[in-house]
Amino acid sequence: MAPSPTFRIGIDLGGTKTEAIALDLAGREMDRQRVATAKGSYGGTIATIRDLVEGLEARLGAIGTVGIGIPGAISPRTGLIKNANSTWLNGKTFDRDLEEALGRKVRLANDADCFTLSEATDGAGAGFETVFGVILGTGTGGGIVAHGRLLAGPNAIAGEWGHNPLPWPSGDEHPGPLCYCGRRGCIETFLSGPGLARDHGGTMNAEQLAASDSPEAQAALQRYERRLAKALTKAHQHHRPPCHRPGRRPVQAGTAVPLDPKPLGRACLLRPRGYSAEIARSRRFVGSARRRLALAHQGLTQPRHIPI
Ligand SMILES: [Zn+2]
Repeated sequence: MAPSPTFRIGIDLGGTKTEAIALDLAGREMDRQRVATAKGSYGGTIATIRDLVEGLEARLGAIGTVGIGIPGAISPRTGLIKNANSTWLNGKTFDRDLEEALGRKVRLANDADCFTLSEATDGAGAGFETVFGVILGTGTGGGIVAHGRLLAGPNAIAGEWGHNPLPWPSGDEHPGPLCYCGRRGCIETFLSGPGLARDHGGTMNAEQLAASDSPEAQAALQRYERRLAKALTKAHQHHRPPCHRPGRRPVQAGTAVPLDPKPLGRACLLRPRGYSAEIARSRRFVGSARRRLALAHQGLTQPRHIPI
């Protein structure tokens, strides 16, 4: 009989970086490792995750359970990955292939769902009846938690907002850039890190833009804020959550794109309780990502223990 796992491993599979964290059974961090994502390679992605898990287990001298947050979802109809901006995952039996590579069961869920559940459990959304969480990184993800439970919906994309059209587009925002999903002007084409970089002209990435004082960079950031405000306002009109939690993951570790709460506040028709304060805390994205890993895994492995 195999020994019982003595810790949990949470994997955050991002479009740029893949990070693994090991938590003891009380939720305390034991170890972590971050590596580059094997962009474009399905086999490489599986190998990266396998190496991360095996590395943590070798250092800790024990085995763990494994939960993974991905930028996509498992289709309830086909069992295949869909909606992943890491497009090499789409159409694959990713969960089963990982289980084969790791020799154990794995839990797999959408990363924005994991993030939102994390924030709703003991983060910025703790204590709110409903929480709408957004990840802005290589792509744009969203999740909804109500009464402490994640809403998945029949298609497992209840909180997704990135492939809705940018609301109230100005003349130069319509029809908008072409999206990998086949449409034009999706929110993701404006609000992802690559979308911000493209809007500026493609000569700087989002991290460089955030650090630049040039008028062109500042103008691009201001356009970004207005677009984010419009997209969040529309989401608010749909869901009416008392708490928005924009999880603005930095484009690279350690650098969060600065976010001025004032334009967002003006653009929002309704300002829910805690909204502006939460946006002003946008520099906590690194922390959010960390907690996302931890709570995502906790939520995935112990759904009955999630405090409401
Ligand atoms: Zn799209």
